[in-house]
Amino acid sequence: MGTRCHIRRNDIVIAHKGTPASGGKTGKVLQVFPGRGRVIVEGLNYIHKTLRKSQDNPKGGIIQKEASIAVSNLMLYCPHCKKGVRVARGVSEQGQRSRKCKKCGHLFDG
Ligand SMILES: [Zn+2]
Repeated sequence: MGTRCHIRRNDIVIAHKGTPASGGKTGKVLQVFPGRGRVIVEGLNYIHKTLRKSQDNPKGGIIQKEASIAVSNLMLYCPHCKKGVRVARGVSEQGQRSRKCKKCGHLFDG
């Protein structure tokens, strides 16, 4: 079952409520993995990695890193509606194809 990937790099997205750890949070898409239907979103879905003690890093430690999140857990965030929205296809004033908010008509690809 392939989900059409409507999310692109630099989009602002919001995680559905109920998404573990990230529900209701927004963030900017940093990276898209179209084949896997997953994206990396800034500030969403942090994982903590423990660093082992080594000569370079004698104390060890923990680093924070963003983990990928399934596109199905995300919606495009509309700055006008101030929430996650469904998108339709639209055409910008310059005649370019764009994604459009189904609620308010905001074009995402200016
Ligand atoms: Zn909208």
